[in-house]
Amino acid sequence: MSDAYPIIDHTYDAVVVGAGGSGLRATMGIAETGLKTACITKVFPTRSHTVAAQGGIAASLGNMGPDHWTWHMYDTVKGSDWLGDQDAIEYLCREAPAAVYELEHFGVPFSRTPEGKIYQRAFGGMTQNMGEGPAAQRTCAAADRTGHAMLHALYQQSLRFDADFFIEFFALDLIMDDDGTCRGVIALEMETGQIHRFRSHNTVLATGGYGRAYFSATSAHTCTGDGGGMVLRAGLPMQDMEFVQFHPTGIYGAGVLITEGARGEGGYLTNSEGERFMERYAPSAKDLASRDVVSRSMAMEIREGRGVGKEGDHIFLHLDHIDPDILGERLPGISETAKIFAGVDVTKGPIPVTPTVHYNMGGIQTNYQGEVVTKQDGDPDRVVPGLFAVGEAGCVSVHGANRLGSNSLIDLVVFGRGTAHRIHEITKPGTKHGDIIKSEDERALARLDKFRTAKGGSPTAEVRTAMQKTMQSNAAVFRTSEILDEGMQKINAVYQRMADLSVTDRGLIWNTDLIETLELDNMIGQAVLTMAMARNRTESRGAHMHEDYPDRNDDEWMTHSLGWFRDGQVELDTRPVHSYTLTDAIEYIKPKKRVY
Ligand SMILES: Cc1cc2nc3c(=O)[nH]c(=O)nc-3n(C[C@H](O)[C@H](O)[C@H](O)COP(=O)(O)OP(=O)(O)OC[C@H]3O[C@@H](n4cnc5c(N)ncnc54)[C@H](O)[C@@H]3O)c2cc1C
Repeated sequence: MSDAYPIIDHTYDAVVVGAGGSGLRATMGIAETGLKTACITKVFPTRSHTVAAQGGIAASLGNMGPDHWTWHMYDTVKGSDWLGDQDAIEYLCREAPAAVYELEHFGVPFSRTPEGKIYQRAFGGMTQNMGEGPAAQRTCAAADRTGHAMLHALYQQSLRFDADFFIEFFALDLIMDDDGTCRGVIALEMETGQIHRFRSHNTVLATGGYGRAYFSATSAHTCTGDGGGMVLRAGLPMQDMEFVQFHPTGIYGAGVLITEGARGEGGYLTNSEGERFMERYAPSAKDLASRDVVSRSMAMEIREGRGVGKEGDHIFLHLDHIDPDILGERLPGISETAKIFAGVDVTKGPIPVTPTVHYNMGGIQTNYQGEVVTKQDGDPDRVVPGLFAVGEAGCVSVHGANRLGSNSLIDLVVFGRGTAHRIHEITKPGTKHGDIIKSEDERALARLDKFRTAKGGSPTAEVRTAMQKTMQSNAAVFRTSEILDEGMQKINAVYQRMADLSVTDRGLIWNTDLIETLELDNMIGQAVLTMAMARNRTESRGAHMHEDYPDRNDDEWMTHSLGWFRDGQVELDTRPVHSYTLTDAIEYIKPKKRVY
């Protein structure tokens, strides 16, 4: 196979796949230590989905009122519905303020308070005083374009160090040796069709989420979970895939996001009776309850016949009571978005919104240092040497069953930096590389060749739509045993169609038909696992609301889900939640009923 596809070789101390917020922070951190570093990305770095993040980045700076990292930790644990690993959550919240100041010094143009400090807004689930106090203003913002500002600053900074960028390179597969160590990655240069082999002592997957497994998602079309696909093919498990976050305010019909910052600035939701219904579901946090709670409440209103619009199938978000000057200053981007995608002038009327797929809490299982771990020989946290995962691709797990808004951007930089530290710690610069592993090249190239020459009866776009529709209808906000059983049959049927794919372009140069097929193949395993894990978890926790099992069941289900997908077969297992913290600075936060 390698005769048909000649290979260009590269050797590095570290290779990062992905140039979103997490990939860039890892790349610059590793390169800064003098290790020979490469960053491979399928889109130009500043086109990564991080660019679309609007609302902001959480850190307990206390610029707008009292705050403390332990309060942030409490909220994150509660937000996760106690499924998050508390050692990792402690690390996240303690390191968050330093990580934000670092971004400030890198040049992120944060909005400012009158005295010149970083501006912070309220976000769902963020409170004072270990959940006892009022809302905390903890989310640092650059107007409503925080991700855009961050990504540009991080890209500029990473160019300062000597990292090599391989842009518009599509990573195909990991190179794994017989001992289960990762030795690098194989990639396709999309412009030339050339195959590249990156041999590396450390490989970091920073490939983002797999939101596009669903039909309506706020994430970019490039969010196809390629890292997860590579990990599953390498025989490693994924964790907690049943937890898919629906953002309450995607624009109805378009799926485009209206940031939670809109409610943070005073926006509220109403039903067809003009009622502010969140007051009934979350009497104290109201419209700023956490996302799973708000999305579920909206779905309830719609199901009970109080949705708005001709079909009664959505909800209104009001900003029209807010001073237009404030809207212009703090939410200029979403004012524009509402105009373009909903034809609404936000100073005059409400925006039609509906819960839309937004974030994957599940992903590649790692420890707080970014090292990928797997369950092996009875050890639930066995490190996979040479392999790391960060950002939305990973599951560290700080978000557990439900992520709080503005906790992803902080996760990207804290764990991107932490991973760089770990790699620096364990890598001697210039260490020799092992032998080339021919069988791994063959594995990656055979897959590429299979899809490039596929001549079945099902065009990729057709199979992808079938997958997306199945996920949207059978693994959404409300789940029942019946819906999930049916979903399992339907998604397996879609998987069977992968053997019948048809790809019409046989070339290797800018073959988007082929790239989309490889992406579909990466997503489908994760879609099947999402459905299987959702069906398996017979309780309700965070984003996983199972109507036949409406309560959280800590006795049986205070546990992470693990799943392998080998040759179309799902294998499920569990892994204990870390019920300990990293240091003595804070004690384990014990489970409580989660009310807002
Ligand atoms: C519209 C929107 C708004 C959001 N707003 C906020 C917010 O305000 N606050 C917050 O905390 N979170 C927010 N989030 C969530 C957060 O932005 C994302 O979770 C986060 O940006 C993901 O970053 P990442 O580094 O993991 O990956 P991404 O930014 O998605 O980047 C993935 C990278 O991987 C590369 N890649 C993928 N596959 C391959 C491959 N096969 N080969 C080579 N390269 C590959 C891509 O080129 C890209 O560079 C928002 C999300 C969305 C969708």
